[in-house]
Amino acid sequence: MSSSANILLIYTGGTIGMMKDFETGALKAFDFDQLLSNIPELKQLDCKIATLSFDTPIDSSDMNVEQWVILGDIINTNYEDYNGFVILHGSDTMSYTASAISFMFENLSKPIIFTGSQLPIGDLRTDAKENLITAVQIAALQKRGRPVITEVGLYFEYKLLRANRTTKVNAEHFEAFQSANYPALIESGVHLKVNTSFLRSVNRRKKMVYHTHFDTDVIVIKMFPGINERILTGIFSLESIKGVILETYGAGNTTTKKWFIAIVSGLIKKGIPVVNVTQCTGGSVEMGKYDTSVALKKVGVISGKDCTTEAALAKLMYLLGEKLPLNVLKTIYETSLRGEMSEN
Ligand code: ASP
Repeated sequence: MSSSANILLIYTGGTIGMMKDFETGALKAFDFDQLLSNIPELKQLDCKIATLSFDTPIDSSDMNVEQWVILGDIINTNYEDYNGFVILHGSDTMSYTASAISFMFENLSKPIIFTGSQLPIGDLRTDAKENLITAVQIAALQKRGRPVITEVGLYFEYKLLRANRTTKVNAEHFEAFQSANYPALIESGVHLKVNTSFLRSVNRRKKMVYHTHFDTDVIVIKMFPGINERILTGIFSLESIKGVILETYGAGNTTTKKWFIAIVSGLIKKGIPVVNVTQCTGGSVEMGKYDTSVALKKVGVISGKDCTTEAALAKLMYLLGEKLPLNVLKTIYETSLRGEMSEN
């Protein structure tokens, strides 16, 4: 595999872009115009790198749909001019943004690789340099003149994961992300080991379609012992709610109390999609497996299968943005669109 790719590196904010000011000793945002002079290692890569930064880089806790669209617009505008994109992003909400970006780009035929770090790039023990250098190298990987990766990935601590399968699981370890339900796409050791059979393939006859409509009138409800009717009735009396993610126990189980099923069924009767995802980090929702999920299936709850909450939420906002009738939304939701869920 070789490359002479053009890569666009986009800095949105987050810890990775910090450097120590040699005069004051304080950490401050890195000047991305100076990227190549500050990280000379990047020059050794067999690719050209252009850089672009958000006007005001943000901590990813402040990310929202407007910024997803700003980022999507940058990629979309530059789509034809570059072979791959690397997005530097704070790790806290990286899985949400990267999942959303995966839904925004239908028929993607180029790599969009998210990365960040636990320590600033200017820190002596930083994980930022390896993450950045290898993310660029992965975005630049080509085989017979075509990108090897044709999906949205997340590179962190020696692994490229399918982005919409990831969750941030650790605020301390360098290995901050997990993809419990899908194997790594690339493992970085002495060599880059590409797990070819797990990569998304691309249909080159289909043109890339860019989507920007998300509906944020949604809510995630996590099941817990003690969840009560009064609170849920109060929440769901809000007229503006258009979609619900239920984070359930185990294989998609909830309380079987009549009031709970009545609330869920009432929402669906009003045309509001209710999606079932598991609170477990690994495994899948299987409604009907236990008695405690039979009623959910019967009233028309959508199965989020083995989706992460991050991907389930981005997918719900995206499909609500497409303004589909509930039965169509349910069918599409239960289908894998970008590799975010297993097929059965
Ligand atoms: N709070 C930071 C952020 O998500 C943490 C990081 O950059 O990893 O922007």
